[in-house]
Amino acid sequence: MSKYESVNPYTNEVFKTYDNATDEQIEQALKTTHELYLNWRNQDISERAKLLAKVADSFEANRQEMAKIMTLEMGKLLSESLEEVDLCISICRYYAEKGPEMLKPQPIESSLGKAYYLKQATGVVMACEPWNFPLYQIIRVFAPNFIVGNPIILKHAHNVPGSAALAEKIISEAGTPKGSLINLFLSYDQINQVIADTRVQGVALTGSERGGRSVAEAAGKNLKKSTMELGGNDPFIVLDDADAKTLKDVLSDARTYNAGQVCTSSKRIIVVESRYDEVLEDLKEIFSNLKPGDPLKDDTTLAPLNSQKAKEKLAKQVDQALAGGAKVYYQYPEIDNKAAFFRPIILTDINKDNPIFDDELFGPVAEVYKVKDEAEAIKLANDSSYGLGSSVISSNPDRAARVASQIETGMTVINGRWITAAELPFGGVQKSGYGRELSELGIMAFVNEHLVIDVSK
Ligand code: NAP
Repeated sequence: MSKYESVNPYTNEVFKTYDNATDEQIEQALKTTHELYLNWRNQDISERAKLLAKVADSFEANRQEMAKIMTLEMGKLLSESLEEVDLCISICRYYAEKGPEMLKPQPIESSLGKAYYLKQATGVVMACEPWNFPLYQIIRVFAPNFIVGNPIILKHAHNVPGSAALAEKIISEAGTPKGSLINLFLSYDQINQVIADTRVQGVALTGSERGGRSVAEAAGKNLKKSTMELGGNDPFIVLDDADAKTLKDVLSDARTYNAGQVCTSSKRIIVVESRYDEVLEDLKEIFSNLKPGDPLKDDTTLAPLNSQKAKEKLAKQVDQALAGGAKVYYQYPEIDNKAAFFRPIILTDINKDNPIFDDELFGPVAEVYKVKDEAEAIKLANDSSYGLGSSVISSNPDRAARVASQIETGMTVINGRWITAAELPFGGVQKSGYGRELSELGIMAFVNEHLVIDVSK
C-alpha cells in the first residue's frame, strides 16, 4: 500500500504525512457525490458554466501557492508549475465557455420519426491520477465532467497529497457545491471498493501500464466505463530536410521539460543519417548547458526527478541499456547534491534486442537512433507497443503531414515537441491506453448519449 506523504525531492525532507481515508469517509464521499449528481440532473447547465469560470478565477488568485506546493512535492521547476496552473485556468475557462454548446442535444435524421440524442451525465467518476502534472491531471478530468454534471472522487498519487488537497480546497472555495470533487487518500484495495460501488459510473486513470491494468480490470469486472491515459515511448522523427534552427529549438526541451517526466516527451529520437551527427551535437550542447539547482529558483534549468525511487529505477534501466549494447554519447557531469537529480544522458546504438528497446524511460534520457531514410524512420517509429504521441521535423509541410498520417500514435506534432491545450484531444492507442481527454471528444467520455425518438403518427 502506498503511503501518502510530501517529500521534497530536492532536500529529501518529509514535510507532511497524511492518513488514509476511513470507511466512513469513503461512504460519506460516495453519498455526497451521488446526491450531487442527482441534483445536477435537474439543474440548468449554465449554472455550472458560471461556477467553472469562478473555479478558474480561484486558481488565478491562488496561482503562486498552487505552483509552489507542486514544486515542493515533485520537484518540477517553479516556472513549469506556474505554466501548469495557467494551463489549468485556460481549461476551466474553455469548458465554461464552450461546454454548454458541446452538450446540446444532437438531432439525427431518421425515417422512423423525430430523433435526437441528449448528452447527459452518468454519475460519479473515480479519477486515479499521477504525480507528473499534479494539477493538470486533475483538471483534465474535473473541468469537462463538472460541466457534464458528473461529480469526481479523486485518488491522486501518494507523493502529491498536498497538491491534491489544495486543488480540492481551491475548487471548493470558488463556490462549487459540496461533492463537486472529493479528494480521498485511498489504498489500492479501497480504490477497488470505490469502483465496485453502484454509485460510481466511470473510471478515469492516467498513469503507468501497471496502474492502468489493475484499475481497468476493476472497472471491467464491475462493468464501469473507463478511460486509460498511459505511458508512451514517443518517436521524434528528424527528416533530411528539417530546418536546422527549428530542429534545435524544438530539441531544446523535448527531453528535459519536467525533467523528462512527461508521458509524451520525445523519448526515441529517430534521425535520418544525413542529420544524425548534427542532432547528437545539438543535444550535447543543450544538455551540457543545463543548470541543476533548487527548482524554486529562477536560474535553475535542470530539476531533480520526483523521488529517489524514480532516480534508482531510471539508473537501473540505463544500466540495462548499456549492458545490452547501448553506447553513451554524452552524460552530464557529476552533480554534487543528494537530491534526486538524474544526470542527462544521450544513448546511441540501441538495437531491437536491447532490453529497454520497448520500455519507457521516464527522465532526461535521449535515445538517438540512426536510420537510412523516411521509410525506415516510419518503420522504427511504429516498432513499439506504445502509441501515445510523436513528432515529425521537416521543412516540407505536405511531406510531414504524409509521414504523420503513417505513424501509429494518438497524436503527432509537426515541427514541435508535445503540446497540449483545452481544445486538443489527448490520448493514445495500443499500450498507451484508450479514450481521449480534453477537447470535444474528452467531454463525451462519461456522457450518456440518450436517444429520444418520437414515432407518433
Ligand atoms: P502509476 O504508478 O500508474 O500511478 C498513477 C495513479 O494510479 C496513482 O494515483 C497511483 O497511486 C495509482 N495506482 C498505481 N498502481 C495502482 C494499482 N495497482 N491499483 C490502483 N491504483 C494504482 O503511474 P506513475 O508511474 O506514477 O506515473 C507515470 C506514468 O504515467 C508514466 O508511464 C507516464 O507516461 C504516464 N502518464 C500518462 C499520461 C497520459 O496522458 N497518457 C500523462 C501523464 C503520465 P499511488 O501513487 O498510490 O501508487
